[in-house]
Amino acid sequence: MNFFYKYLLFVAIVSAFVFILLFGQLRIFRHTVIGKLNRLFLLWLPKKLSQLDNKLLHGKGYVFYRISSNYVFFQKHSLVVLFYLCIVSFCIFNFLYHGRTITNQYHKLDWLLLVTSAVLPYVSLYIAIYSDPGVVTQENWQEASTAYPYDYKIFFPRTCETCKFLKPARSKHCRLCNCCVQKFDHHCIWINNCVGRNNIRYFFLFLLSTLQIQLYGVFCIGFHFNRVRDSTLKSLLVSWWAAITAERQLGSVFLISVFSSVIVFSFLCYEFYLVYAGYTTNESEKWADLNELILQSKVYMHYRNGVQMLTLQEDAPADATLTYSLGQVHNIYDRGFWNNFKSICFP
Ligand SMILES: [Zn+2]
Ligand SMILES: [Zn+2]
Repeated sequence: MNFFYKYLLFVAIVSAFVFILLFGQLRIFRHTVIGKLNRLFLLWLPKKLSQLDNKLLHGKGYVFYRISSNYVFFQKHSLVVLFYLCIVSFCIFNFLYHGRTITNQYHKLDWLLLVTSAVLPYVSLYIAIYSDPGVVTQENWQEASTAYPYDYKIFFPRTCETCKFLKPARSKHCRLCNCCVQKFDHHCIWINNCVGRNNIRYFFLFLLSTLQIQLYGVFCIGFHFNRVRDSTLKSLLVSWWAAITAERQLGSVFLISVFSSVIVFSFLCYEFYLVYAGYTTNESEKWADLNELILQSKVYMHYRNGVQMLTLQEDAPADATLTYSLGQVHNIYDRGFWNNFKSICFP
């Protein structure tokens, strides 16, 4: 196996690994090979390593592992942001330095596009990192509490044990940021910040700007590498492969762009699906849990003042009826794709 086959394999494995770690915990992948591999890496493997360590080193190695994994997985840090910055900067530098034959042919408009593509990921990352996701404070609690009603299906009036106030509907306490966040989506390690009601638009901007620079790399270098006249897929791939091995630095950027764009595109599609469905990422987990309870015939439905409410069997009032499917349950936060999208752009 020559160097570039090894390199291609390496980039493919790293991309698949990142995909599994990022998406493997989602409920839609729970019973698939992606979910199983996620549990293998994050649950089974650490457990087995701990048992081995207890036998061989009397638990000394596991103490170090626990401290480092606790830092990586359960504390707020900028390691992933630095990783992102290194990869993007590496690709931009290589493209500008080794892709001079491409950039020499540029006229003014192309340069404008290139500079915009190169600058936007940094700007959008900066905004996403330092934006307020919608932290609930004593000052804005009143406004945050009236923004959304409780639906009595996945959100009930409950007090946050840490912040000591009634959690507004759709909010959640982030243990990494140690605060409650309005319309909590998820805590994102790529921006080292929560994604919530006030900054999800900047998170979308970050994803879109990352995808556009990746696609820019794929198309520019892809066209540059294309030296065949007939455009069959096989001859195109052969042409690309010959060019990648001949121009290794640009080839590296091309391969990174291709694989990472698949990850970002998948994530962006998933986020748009959530907008379509009227969920946040946090809520999609809650709806999936609710669906499992419904399938186990544990959820009952009743109405109070025209409002549909769900309870578990043991708390169900006399007039409650068994819920047969999630289709019977009305999501009051879903106001149609465009209205959902508008509420993200203008919270
Ligand atoms: Zn809280
Ligand atoms: Zn957070």
